[in-house]
Amino acid sequence: MTLKMSKRRPLVAQSEIRNMSIECARQGGINLAQGVCDLPVPDVVIQGAEEAMERGTNIYTRFDGRPELRKAIAAKQNRYTGMDVDPEGQVVASAGATGAFYATCLALLDEGDEVIVFEPYYGYHIVTMASLGIKPVYVTLEPPDWGFVAEDLEKAVTSRTRAMILNTPSNPAGKVFSREELEIIADFSEAHDIFVFTDEIYEHFVFDGREHVAPATLPGMAKRTITISGLSKVFAITGWRLGYAICDPEWALAIGHFNDLVYVCAPAPLQIGAARGLAELTPDYYQAVSDDHQMKRDLFCDTLRDIGLTPHVPEGAYYTLADVTSLPGSTAKERAIHLLDKTGVACVPGSAFYQGPVGETLARFCFAKEMPILEDAMNRLRKL
Ligand code: PLP
Repeated sequence: MTLKMSKRRPLVAQSEIRNMSIECARQGGINLAQGVCDLPVPDVVIQGAEEAMERGTNIYTRFDGRPELRKAIAAKQNRYTGMDVDPEGQVVASAGATGAFYATCLALLDEGDEVIVFEPYYGYHIVTMASLGIKPVYVTLEPPDWGFVAEDLEKAVTSRTRAMILNTPSNPAGKVFSREELEIIADFSEAHDIFVFTDEIYEHFVFDGREHVAPATLPGMAKRTITISGLSKVFAITGWRLGYAICDPEWALAIGHFNDLVYVCAPAPLQIGAARGLAELTPDYYQAVSDDHQMKRDLFCDTLRDIGLTPHVPEGAYYTLADVTSLPGSTAKERAIHLLDKTGVACVPGSAFYQGPVGETLARFCFAKEMPILEDAMNRLRKL
């Protein structure tokens, strides 16, 4: 028999996050590995989707999404970042930020291209590119400050570099890129004439009075930035698969055509639910969700500190990386399994976010859980 898999098959293995989730379920543990937020979905979002289904919004939408959703995204982007976005040609609604990122890579990059990525990274960015023959080139950020300088970027650039990825606030480090850091990236991307693909899915979760700065708003960045985000996290609808790309109309048309090819469209009635949420929820809603995450961050980081797993306190998003070198084991995976066996709390080994050795010293915990579950997890950890 000569049947065989594609050459890309080995590149797309089951992620360490799913592996840990499966192991956690087998042991009946508490899953702080997966980045799923337990918080309730806002009523207006559910009602919007239900009404849309009942009214008959159940067929394919335009390739870039329903007008209500594109308008709501453009208005929200203007309200929170000041960006002037045309909903008729600059917004592509997709199957999550994941779909928007995939369609962007398909539309704008070729096999053999290089893309600069900060590590620790979000694994889907890396595997998506690898499966398309695109080479990630890493700029390593190390705890505790996750800083970088312009020379780090210059060392990573080659004649094949076509883009860089900027995830702010970041998963897993919770780094919120400052305006000064974004200026370095803006100067760099202009000097080398490359795209910047952002991932701003945690844009509303920024702590201690920090500000999320949308990279596209920096001078000179509007044309070269593909702003990617989604509703999964902020409305707690990870299973709805709704996200989007915002960019120059030339790129948006191309991204939209690949979005059509792969997904046809995002789920029609759910687009209406999300549009209602974007249009009707006030800034108080976003602030309350962010404050809730911040309160949980503080409680959870205190717990980690008390048991000798020094946390790298995040500035945004809803994960914390902790130093797990005090746990037995020689790899992050062994240490994470030890923690699960001893406490029933699952985390993700830091090696899932790094190519290099730094990851072996770290583990990631997601603290976006309902309070009773988080309390249970903290009590179990304290028994370590
Ligand atoms: N981007 C980052 C950085 C994430 O952490 C996640 C989910 O964990 C996603 C994208 C997935 O977003 P979506 O559900 O919109 O595809």
